[in-house]
Amino acid sequence: MKSIEQSERWHQRALKVIPGGVSSPVRAFSAVGGTPRYFVEGKGSRVFDVDGNEYVDMVGSWGPMIVGHAHPEVVRRVIEAASKSSSFGAASPNEVLLAEEIIRRVSAAERVRFVSSGTEAVMTAVRLARAATKRNVIVKFAGCYHGHADALLVQAGSGVLTLGLPNSPGVTPGQAQDTVVVPYNDFEAIKELFTKRGSEIAAVLTEAVPANMGVVPPAPGFNALLSQLCKENGALFILDEVMTGFRLSSGGWWHLINAEESWTPDLITYGKVIGGGYPVAGVAGPARIMDLLAPIGSVYQAGTLSGNPVATAAGLATLELCDENLYATLNRRAREVGDVVSTALSQEGVPHRLQNAGNLFSIFFADEEVRNFADAQGQDTKAFAAFFHSMLDNGVSLPPSAYEAWFVSGAHTDQDIELIAGASSVAAKAAASTLG
Ligand SMILES: *Cc1c(COP(=O)(O)O)cnc(C)c1O
Repeated sequence: MKSIEQSERWHQRALKVIPGGVSSPVRAFSAVGGTPRYFVEGKGSRVFDVDGNEYVDMVGSWGPMIVGHAHPEVVRRVIEAASKSSSFGAASPNEVLLAEEIIRRVSAAERVRFVSSGTEAVMTAVRLARAATKRNVIVKFAGCYHGHADALLVQAGSGVLTLGLPNSPGVTPGQAQDTVVVPYNDFEAIKELFTKRGSEIAAVLTEAVPANMGVVPPAPGFNALLSQLCKENGALFILDEVMTGFRLSSGGWWHLINAEESWTPDLITYGKVIGGGYPVAGVAGPARIMDLLAPIGSVYQAGTLSGNPVATAAGLATLELCDENLYATLNRRAREVGDVVSTALSQEGVPHRLQNAGNLFSIFFADEEVRNFADAQGQDTKAFAAFFHSMLDNGVSLPPSAYEAWFVSGAHTDQDIELIAGASSVAAKAAASTLG
């Protein structure tokens, strides 16, 4: 590995002008220590930093780069759109095409309203649910992240967790008082909550598969129970697919699981993949709820850059590449990466758990199965930090926190898997050396 001198220089400059040097907290490496790398280029599965170091990328911008960096078709469509105008602040065809593509893929979606971030998408879904039910209380699960809206920054997973903030200062008790937090995968707790407060609950909000505390698959029947409780009590079921949407299958997690469990979410939020690396997110659902939004209804929601023609062109080009072949590749690559890393850790006797839902996976540095946030917090973060840095030094860029999913793309190759396997055997030794 070459030096990281230029990254260090950029970071010193960044620290003087940007809080913590970063535009989003997890990027600062707080959980693992050391200097964040400054990236200048990505091509397929590889990213390059300012010092010219090359890495196999397992972050993928936290999901959006599902077809790899700078995919020629996505680049072509972006340039084509950008050369005509970056933004009109008015209606334009690309947003219609993207909405049609989402609706074609997801039978629970009849309308889509576009916004620029997952945070906004969930905020909008929550506002809609409260307006539709004329109730206030939102139920969320400990360790699930739904963006940084005030009312949802309560026990919110990785970013907040990495910094050791159970809840964020600056969120008033008033803003948080209508948010009730329940342990994930706890059938009894959610039943009891509905028994006590069912008539106050506007919505249950959950990640389709929690992946912001590491990947914690829903226990069989858990989502079905949530859906049923919502239905019986006149609440809405909001499925947050910002991470999982169009990553786990052509129609997201719901599409995948609906073949086994038949339930239907009332609102679904999307982000990440639907923008292909550009700021696009959205909330989708049946017309009867979605049409409560202005200008048809009175629930206000707006955005200067919403449905932006360049961003929606990137999203559309990306979704068009998300065919059954791509999902088969993602599933295979996820299995391969999980296998080689898990094998290396086992060889060195490092306790770990590989958990996955489809191609979304993470490795917990823990002994036992992780079913909820409390379990996730039992991880050995010191072992992870050693593992992370060794992987980075050997050319693999992992998410810089033990509480994150790892992301494969359609561009990852056999050569990448070999490189990851080699780096893992070294990194597993580094992790083992931290064990007491
Ligand atoms: C990333 C994420 C969000 C927030 O999206 P942003 O675009 O970062 O605001 C919300 N929910 C889930 C499940 C996410 O993974």
